[in-house]
Amino acid sequence: MVNHCPHCGRQALSPARKLLLGPSGSIACRACGGRVGVAFGKAWLALSPGLLVAASGLPIAHASIRHLPMILTLDALALVAMFAAYAWWVPLQCR
Ligand SMILES: [Zn+2]
Repeated sequence: MVNHCPHCGRQALSPARKLLLGPSGSIACRACGGRVGVAFGKAWLALSPGLLVAASGLPIAHASIRHLPMILTLDALALVAMFAAYAWWVPLQCR
């Protein structure tokens, strides 16, 4: 499990709490109190495709309102994929 603490091996935080933490933040493990943070490189790797899709969707939606529902759907899928990768693929490290 990627959400297990590198200090004590128990679950350090919930996936939702991890999403709120962000790539540069750190938090005390809820089992042992050790400082943990997400692996920086993988965190950005997980976040960047979603951010790109969300950013590119805005000007396209502005240009043609007809495509808006499709763009919003793609954006939502990209965000879901991004959050899932961030919560379940990016490992925790000692901080
Ligand atoms: Zn711990």
